[in-house]
Amino acid sequence: MDITEALRNGVMSLMKDAHGDLSVAHEDAYPLEGVGILTADTIVYPLINQARSAKRFIVNEKLVHEAQMELTKQGHSPVAFYHTHPTGTSSPSARDELWMEENNSSVMVIVGPKSIAGWVWTDRLHSLGKIPK
Ligand SMILES: [Zn+2]
Repeated sequence: MDITEALRNGVMSLMKDAHGDLSVAHEDAYPLEGVGILTADTIVYPLINQARSAKRFIVNEKLVHEAQMELTKQGHSPVAFYHTHPTGTSSPSARDELWMEENNSSVMVIVGPKSIAGWVWTDRLHSLGKIPK
């Protein structure tokens, strides 16, 4: 089993378990994009989308780092970033792909209006599975 296969199983199971809270994150941010951190024990931890946009997200690196430290201190393991697509699909935009390439190996879960999908960039973009919303 390669790393992608192991990741796929883990992320699929995480998306199923966090399905309800990820759907709420989509609704809470609507009509803008929401963004945040997902932990191994399915905590959906929202961050501020500084872009305040329906088409993109920007997060402050320092706040991301602080949130990760705080979650870890509380015993949660940050394992993925999520962001929402208010409309459209749960596939990454060109900008999302660039973000993933720059944050190599970071798992990104995208919550669309109809589905939730996991993605990772290693040498290229890999799908980690999709579930209905
Ligand atoms: Zn996106």
